[in-house]
Amino acid sequence: MRIELLRSLVPALLLSAATLFAACGDSSTTAKSTAVSKPEPAKAPLIQKAQVADWCPEHGVPESACTRCNAKLIAQFQAKGDWCKEHSLPESQCIACHPELEAKLKAMAPKTGG
Ligand SMILES: [Zn+2]
Ligand SMILES: [Zn+2]
Repeated sequence: MRIELLRSLVPALLLSAATLFAACGDSSTTAKSTAVSKPEPAKAPLIQKAQVADWCPEHGVPESACTRCNAKLIAQFQAKGDWCKEHSLPESQCIACHPELEAKLKAMAPKTGG
């Protein structure tokens, strides 16, 4: 009987096909070994960028001599007699009393690019 023969063959073929696929599938199980490493955080430079010029742009005087930013300096200027009580500024910085200082201070100001 031919049909009987076919019926018994089909399961065998399917089985062999299944084993083939299984064999193929095995090869795709190779684990991906891409080590995901965290990017190194940018370390802060040990040496700071070039210090900004000793200048207080807000008050137009050297930062190291800016009594409005550093009240501690006031006593030093007063001790030197370099003090304008009227304007609470060192005479050497008091443009109100010494208008010519404005040009002098402007010349001292660092050139800011831009
Ligand atoms: Zn200042
Ligand atoms: Zn003054």
